[in-house]
Order: sequence, then structure tokens, then C-alpha cells
Amino acid sequence: MRPDAAIRQNASHPLPAGTAQARWRMPVAERPRFIQLETVTKCNAKCPFCPQNEIVRDPTRMPEATWKKIVDDTRGWGVTYRPFLTNEPFVDNRMPEIVRYIKENDPTARVEFNTNGELLTDKLGRELLEAGVDIMRISVDGLSRETYEPSRVGIDFDRVMTRVQAFLDVWDHEGYRDKVFTEVRMIEVPENAHEVQAYREFWGPRCSEVVITGLYQWPWTGQKPEDVVLRPCLKVLDEMFFYTNGKATLCCWDVHEKAVIGDVNIQSVQEIWDGYAATCLRALLDDGRRDLIHLCSRCNAYGGFDFGKFESAGD
Ligand code: SF4
Repeated sequence: MRPDAAIRQNASHPLPAGTAQARWRMPVAERPRFIQLETVTKCNAKCPFCPQNEIVRDPTRMPEATWKKIVDDTRGWGVTYRPFLTNEPFVDNRMPEIVRYIKENDPTARVEFNTNGELLTDKLGRELLEAGVDIMRISVDGLSRETYEPSRVGIDFDRVMTRVQAFLDVWDHEGYRDKVFTEVRMIEVPENAHEVQAYREFWGPRCSEVVITGLYQWPWTGQKPEDVVLRPCLKVLDEMFFYTNGKATLCCWDVHEKAVIGDVNIQSVQEIWDGYAATCLRALLDDGRRDLIHLCSRCNAYGGFDFGKFESAGD
């Protein structure tokens, strides 16, 4: 759940099972609103801040029966599907087919991509637009080769610039501006901070929105036990994440399967969402006990978020 969405939530809903004594009462949804699918495990980049290249999961490609079952289980729920996890989505050449399948017969479904843009060819871009993609977020972390390539290792800056601009040209001139939301985003670091203003001016007229964000820290990337933030978590309230093998995890940052909550090969998506593992882990998080969950015990996410409005009155 995004922090702005959490702030808008009314906290007067009934307590979920297992949280009667918890210090916070977080607004968990009855079913997921966002579902991420790791359709492949690979990425075309080797960014120094990302643990993606540590993944050795099998299979490397999610079987068709698995992603179709997840979509079939959740049709009509108003889900935003994100067909990627830690990987780059367009390493998977099935994406137009996956978007078409998701959108078919489900007017409530939305599809969103986060991509580094390097593999976004003219052909692929047109196929995605025609298939009905709703949101395209494109990460271009710099406005020059000098600032871009040290953080996006393995990606050619000029190719990204050419392909992203060509895609946005089609979006703008071929009737998609009102149908598809496009975002170009940059993680601000000291090396590219001087480019922020020029970046906004360059990309602003070319897309729906420009976003400049800070660098987040993945769990288990140097945090000590005393760094853990003993607070609830927004990540587990309305989002679900599936690996290529069909297992679901608590968090999109769980690259090493530390917090598996179910398996869609033997359970429905709703059964996993309501299941014992997910319920227990959410209850611990509602009590601020990240230290009792292996994955979360080295996580400082949402350290600056004010959870005050969700405090339980002890009822
Ligand atoms: S690791 Fe745990 S506490 Fe951190 S964002 Fe993920 S679910 Fe939340």
C-alpha cells in the first residue's frame, strides 16, 4: 500500500484474526489489489544496488499454467497486475500475450510495468499499447551517460534514450495519451543531483509525469539487528507477490524466499491471502515485531512513516 493511500484509510474496520492485542490496527484488504508476477528471473542489467543477480530460482520462467491460474483466480477483483518482481519484465517475450490475457473479459483489471526501457523496442511498445497496458513507469536514472551508466551497469544509455523517446512518441501521437499513464522516473543520488532540473524539463512534456525518488534500502543489505524499525508495514496490506515457481511471498523484497506464505499450485490466491502464514505474519507486523520475522528483522522500511492514526486503543 502506498503511504498516501494508507493515510486516506479509515482505521475503524474490524480487527483481523490474531491481531486483537496488537499495538497497531492496520487496514488489511479483503483481497489483494496489486499482484506481482515474477514471470522470469532475469534482468538485462547488473545494478550495484539491486540483489537481482543473486537469484537462482528454478524454473527461470514461470509456466503458462501458473500465471494463468493466478489471473483466473482473481478475475473481476479490480486487481492491478504487475508482471515482474525483481526482474526486468521485457526479458520475457510473452508480455504482449500476458497483457492480452489479463485484460481479456475483465474490465476491472489493470496492467502496470516498471521497466528500465532498454528492451522496449518499437514493435514491443506498439504491441503492449494495443494489448491494453494501463501504466508504464520507466526508470532512466540520469540525463547523461556519465551519470546513468555507473548505476545501471550493463545498459546502454543511448539505446535507452532512443527507445524510450520513440515509445513515448507513439504514445503521444497515436492516440494513447488519455488511455495510458506514462511515468519517467529517476533515483536521485549525489552523482545525478545536478541534473534534476534539466531532467524534469526534458522529460516533463514527453510523458504524463516525472518522478524523482530517493534510493531505498533492501532488507538484509547491511542493516544490523538494532537498525530494524519496530513498526508495522504498509507492504503487506493489499499486495501479493508470486515467484516463477508459484510460491507467494510476503514482500517484493524477499528475493531469497525467506517469507513464503503459500503456493498457488496447490492453493487459490484467496486461500493464500487468508491463510495461516499470511495472517500470523501480518499479526506480528501489526505488533511492530519485525524482529520475530526472519525477512523483516533487517528491514528499516517506512521508518519515517507516521503510524499514529493506526494505533490500537487496546480493544
Ligand atoms: S521486509 Fe518485511 S517489514 Fe520490510 S517491507 Fe518487506 S514485509 Fe515490510
